Amino acid sequence: MLLLLILGACLASTHASPDWDYRDTSQWCDSFPTCCPSSVRQSPIDIIESNAVPQSYPTFEVTFETDGPPSAVEGILSNNGHTVQWSVDTSKNNIELAKGPLGSDTYQLAQFHFHWGRTQRTGSEHALNGKFFPAEVHFVHYNKKYNSLAEAAGKSDGLAVVGIFIEVEEAKSVIFQYMVKARI
Ligand SMILES: [Zn+2]
Repeated sequence: MLLLLILGACLASTHASPDWDYRDTSQWCDSFPTCCPSSVRQSPIDIIESNAVPQSYPTFEVTFETDGPPSAVEGILSNNGHTVQWSVDTSKNNIELAKGPLGSDTYQLAQFHFHWGRTQRTGSEHALNGKFFPAEVHFVHYNKKYNSLAEAAGKSDGLAVVGIFIEVEEAKSVIFQYMVKARI
């Protein structure tokens, strides 16, 4: 399941600040008033399929340019206090997302990070028909009409975040093994 969230100041404040956690989400509105009380861009979202309104969009375009082979995208894996985050070295790698519902703007991948839980019934930030998944990855892109992720994060059209729910399987993922083995 793939989600596309076009978020600005709300996501910027909740993802960039170290001063939040999931222990008491009822405080989020007080701490991050740009997200509340009635913002239509509130995150997280419980997607109720019976209430969803189907929309048609052009196919997404993903552009992938690196100095080296695609298997050698350079960046930094870090523990930012909330999650494991891979920050792309954008001086050497240009990974872009366009079309879909994004209009004429092009968004550049800046980082991806994970949300996960202690059990297989919790972890994803968003939910589908009330069901949470064990984990969710967010690919955070910023609008290239701005100079940086930081500048774009405060704008209503600044960020495009692709979220993918993750389920647990028996087989090991080669890609996840790289990150599990990393010492950060
Ligand atoms: Zn996230």
